[in-house]
Amino acid sequence: MAVRATASRFPIDSDALEASGLPWGLTVTPFASKDETGIGPAYGSNGHLLPRCENCYAYFNTYCELDQWAWTCSLCGTLNGLSSDAIARYSYPHDSIPETSSSFVDLELPLDGSEEEMTQARPVYVAAIDLSSSEEFLELTKSALLAALEALSPGSLFGLATFSHKIGLYDVQGPIPVVKNVFIPPDAESKLPLELEDAMPLLQFLAPVETCKDRIAAALETLRPITSWERSSGAAQGIDGVLMGGRGFGTAMEALFNYLGSEFGNTFALARVFAFMSGPPDYGRGQLDTSRYGEQYASKRVDADRALLPEQTPFYKDLATIAVQSGVCVDVFAVTNEYTDLASLKFLSIESGGSLFLYSSTDDSTLPQDMFRMLNRPYAFNCVLRLRTSTEFKPLHSYGHFFPDPQYENLQHIICCDSYATYAYDFEFANNTGFSRHSREPPVVQIAFQYTVVVPTEGLQNSELPSSSRGKHVLQKRLRIRTMQFETAQNINEIYDSVDHEVVLSLLVHKVILVSLEDGVREGRALLHDWLVILTAQYNDAYNLVQYKNGNKSMSSQIDITFSQCPQLEPLPRLVFALLRNPLLRFHEEGVHPDYRIYLQCLFSVLEPSSLHCGIYPSLTSYSTPDKQAYPRHSLSRAALLTSDSPIFFLDAYTTLIVFYTSTADPSLPFPPPQDCLLRKNINMVKQGRSITPKLMFIRGGKDDATAFENYLIEEQDVDGSGFASAKGFVSFLDDISQSVAEYMK
Ligand SMILES: [Zn+2]
Repeated sequence: MAVRATASRFPIDSDALEASGLPWGLTVTPFASKDETGIGPAYGSNGHLLPRCENCYAYFNTYCELDQWAWTCSLCGTLNGLSSDAIARYSYPHDSIPETSSSFVDLELPLDGSEEEMTQARPVYVAAIDLSSSEEFLELTKSALLAALEALSPGSLFGLATFSHKIGLYDVQGPIPVVKNVFIPPDAESKLPLELEDAMPLLQFLAPVETCKDRIAAALETLRPITSWERSSGAAQGIDGVLMGGRGFGTAMEALFNYLGSEFGNTFALARVFAFMSGPPDYGRGQLDTSRYGEQYASKRVDADRALLPEQTPFYKDLATIAVQSGVCVDVFAVTNEYTDLASLKFLSIESGGSLFLYSSTDDSTLPQDMFRMLNRPYAFNCVLRLRTSTEFKPLHSYGHFFPDPQYENLQHIICCDSYATYAYDFEFANNTGFSRHSREPPVVQIAFQYTVVVPTEGLQNSELPSSSRGKHVLQKRLRIRTMQFETAQNINEIYDSVDHEVVLSLLVHKVILVSLEDGVREGRALLHDWLVILTAQYNDAYNLVQYKNGNKSMSSQIDITFSQCPQLEPLPRLVFALLRNPLLRFHEEGVHPDYRIYLQCLFSVLEPSSLHCGIYPSLTSYSTPDKQAYPRHSLSRAALLTSDSPIFFLDAYTTLIVFYTSTADPSLPFPPPQDCLLRKNINMVKQGRSITPKLMFIRGGKDDATAFENYLIEEQDVDGSGFASAKGFVSFLDDISQSVAEYMK
C-alpha cells in the first residue's frame, strides 16, 4: 500500500490551509505490494483479533502507547483495555508480532461461513465478442484471447459468447465446438424470449482452460462477422428497408450477468467478462443514439464539450449494479474510431471494478499485450477501503473508481482492483481549532484495506490440504493496515517546502474531471486557471515578494510567477499549462474525440501520481548515441530541442513512447536503435512497469512524418489552441497568469 500526501507537513488550521492556496489530501494505492519507499508489510494471521479502539474503531498500531493492561489510541487518545488473550500476546518480544513491529501490516482473516463452503473458488473468465464487426476486428480479438488463454492459471474456467442481433453460446467441452443461438428482440423494452440457462446449462458453457485450450482456439477460428444478408433476415427492417443495426450489446450483457449469477458464491467468487466491441450498441436493450455527436457539429449553440460528457441513459449504470450483484467484473475493449458514446458505457466497467480500453484502429492496437498483462498480474476483489484520521481533521471528498457504502461515511467498496489502482482523498478540519500549536499529538492517518484473493493451492504451505485439491483454488481474505504520522507546519513556508507536486497534480486532475463532467470542459479549465492565480498570489504574499508602495514598477512585473524561492512548487505552473493542453481539457473544436476524452478521464482517475505526471507532462530525455544518455530531462519545447545538440530523443507520454532522431542526426547512427542498446533497455523497463502497454513509435526527422512527436512539444503552443503563429505558448501563459495575479492581489 503506497500512500503519498500533498505535503508531509500539514497546515495547522483552516486559515493556514486557505492561506497556502494548496489542496490538502493524499493518494493511496491499496493493493501495491510495497509502500511508497519500497518497503513491504509485516505479514501475519488472525487479523480479526487485532485490538480496535472502542471510540473511533481504529486498529491498534505502532504509534499507540502500550501498557501491560491497556493501550492508548493514536488517533483519538482513548484509553482501551486489553483482552486477556492480547495481554498474553503482547507480553512476548515485540518484534515477532506484526502490529507491534511495523506500521504497515497485512494479516490473514478467517473466512465467514458461506466463503468457507467455497472449496472450489475457480477463477471464471468469459469473452463476449461483437460479431457485428469486421474480419480485422475479429482477427485482433482472436489474438488477444489466444494471449489470454496463455496467461490463465490452471483450474480457471473459460466461456466464449458472441453478440450481434443474437447471442451465441459455445460449448467447447465436446469433441467439436457447438454453438447455441438466442435471438435478441430489436426494441429497447423486450427481454430475451429464452433464458440462456435454458439454451445451454452454465457448466456446459464454462470450460476448464487446461483441458479445452485447443478447442477454445478452434472455436475462435470459426468466428465470422455477421453478413448484411444474415442481419436483414434476422434483424428488424426499419422504414424504407433501412437496416436498424445489429449490435445487441445491452441485452447480451444483461442476459450474460443473470446467467453467470446463478453460480456466484458457488463455483466462483468473482467472474470477469471481457466485452469486445467494434461500435455503439444499436439494437435491443441499452441502444444508444449516436446522432447526438453529429448534432454537435450542426448546432453551434450548444457547448459540445459539455453536451457529450454526461450519459444519455442510466441503462449501463443500472446494468453495472446487476453485474456486481452477480459477482461479475466487466472489462470493456472498444476497438473503433466511430462515435461509441463511452460516456454512457463507461459505468459498466468502472462501477464493476473493470477497465475501459479504447483503440482507435485495429492496425496499431496493443490489445493482445494489454490483455496478457492484465491477466498476468494479481488482483484483489470484494475490497473495502476505510480511511480514518485523528480527531482534528476528516476526509472531505474521495476520488477514484469505487462506490460509497450506502450506510457508512468514508467507507468505499472496490469490486476488483490491481496493484496499480489508485484512489485519492482530500481533507478538511473538523472544527476551527485545528491542530494545537503546542500539542505533542501529531496528525495520524490510518487506512484499512480488506480484500480477497484467489490463490492456487500449489502456492500454499498448508500440509493439511487434501491431495485432491491440486490445481484448485482457494479464497483468502486479508486485512492490510497502514498507519502514518505526519508533522504540522509552523508557518506557510514549511508547508510549501514539504509539497509533493505530483500528489497536488493528482488532486487537481480529479477535481477538474468532476467539474468538466458536471459543468463542461470550459468550467474545468477556468477552475484550473483560477487555482493557479490564487496559489501564485498566496505564495507571493507569503514571501513578501511584492512591494505595494513601489510606484515606479508595475505590480505584475514584480510577481514571482516561477516560484523561484520554492523548488517544490516550481513545477506547478508548467503542469497546469500542460494539463490545459492535454486532450482531457482541450476543446472539442481542436478535434478531441469525445470517446477519447472519456477514455482519458477513466485512465487518469486511477493512475498513481508519478504515472499521472508522465501522462500530463511527458518526460523527454536525450541520447548522444543509442548507448549513451545525454540529458535526463528536457522541457517540451522546440527551442530546447534546437539548442540541445543531441541527435536522439526519447519521449514517454505514458500511453505513447516515441524515439525521435533529429534531421541532423549522423546517418551512421543505427535506426531503429538496436535491441541490445541502453535506449532499448530503458524502453523495456518503462514498458514493464506500466499498467497498460504503451504504443512505441520510431520517427526520423526530415524523413518521416514527425507530427506525432511535435504535437507533444507543447511549450510553444497556444494554451487555448486558437493558433500557432501568433501565440507565444508557455511564456505568454505565464504573462497572462501574472496579470491575473496582480489584479487578484489588488
Ligand atoms: Zn480511537
